Amino acid sequence: MIISYTVFENGYQLGGCMKKVISLLIIATMVFAMIGCGATDENNTNNVSLEVTDTEKVVNIYTDRHYDTDQALYDTFTAETGIQVNVVKAKSDELLERLKIEGEDTEADLVVTSDVGRLYRAQTEGLIKPFVSETLKNNVPENLRSTEDFWTALTVRARVIAYVKDRVDPMALSTYEALTEEAWAGKVVVRSSTNIYNQSLMASFIELNGADNAKAWAEGLVANMARVPEGNDRDQMKAIVAGEGDVAIVNTYYVGKLLNSSDEYEVEVGEKIGVFFPNQETNGTHINISGAGLTKHGKNTGSATLLLEYLTGEKAQSDYANANYEYPVNANVEPSELLQSWGTFKAQEIDLSVLGAFNADAVKLLNEAGWK
Ligand code: FE
Repeated sequence: MIISYTVFENGYQLGGCMKKVISLLIIATMVFAMIGCGATDENNTNNVSLEVTDTEKVVNIYTDRHYDTDQALYDTFTAETGIQVNVVKAKSDELLERLKIEGEDTEADLVVTSDVGRLYRAQTEGLIKPFVSETLKNNVPENLRSTEDFWTALTVRARVIAYVKDRVDPMALSTYEALTEEAWAGKVVVRSSTNIYNQSLMASFIELNGADNAKAWAEGLVANMARVPEGNDRDQMKAIVAGEGDVAIVNTYYVGKLLNSSDEYEVEVGEKIGVFFPNQETNGTHINISGAGLTKHGKNTGSATLLLEYLTGEKAQSDYANANYEYPVNANVEPSELLQSWGTFKAQEIDLSVLGAFNADAVKLLNEAGWK
């Protein structure tokens, strides 16, 4: 198996093969369905003591993810297990607020967000509880889940430098820091600092370089911006292709989304974009996760845990990788061909919880730096 990318410098790698987990899950749920009442999946070799009762044949999810892939995965999970999945979609802040207000009365069993900072906040505010599942621990490497098992990553995304291939020599690119140099004056586009992806990027710099250096970086970047931030990550790439700048800071999967868009113009934009992983000679490219945690007062914890095991299992992970162009968290699943074509990269080596812990500091410094 080709090892497609390296997450940590110290040797954690993705690659390999294993197919047992999902089939065991299916067998376990078939047995459950046949006896028609509460079952403990004793057949599960992963020593999970999950009890899924009849009253629990449902999982209610609060999610801020807005991708079709997710619904397709939930549908497959339902088809394979008979467990109904209900989804409430909203912005993560609203979802956490709702969980807080609902308290013990909440119907939500699982909260899914596309940023680890929000999961960290859910943890510190007592809105989620630890999972108990060896399968989940086997599916997800340690650095991609909470040390106390409060949350787990479902996918990994890298925040990279996108450049216009016919205008920028990638040899001229090196680090996030270098984008603040004179050479890039008026050539950088990036979305607003109100966006969580930029806040987490900034939080990672606070952790790695200290608050003063992080702020100086933000000021330097603001000074080099081609325009006042507007739009989403895809809009940044459209802007540079249209000549509003040369480089953009974006999440990798948005390049995949452009390339596979039903809109011809978006495909054209995607084809003109190159992906550069910054800081390979220094402290690595910034990564974030989409992840999930069991709500503290959820009633269907067994089913919700089964869903987490399913989502981090090989089949779902390969779907995430292929349909949403995200990096799998399961070491036995390779990134999609497109992601592999961008090559391997070294990721930042930080505890992902700091992205949440430093969120407020990041927002403050970004504002002080004048990043709109
Ligand atoms: Fe996104």
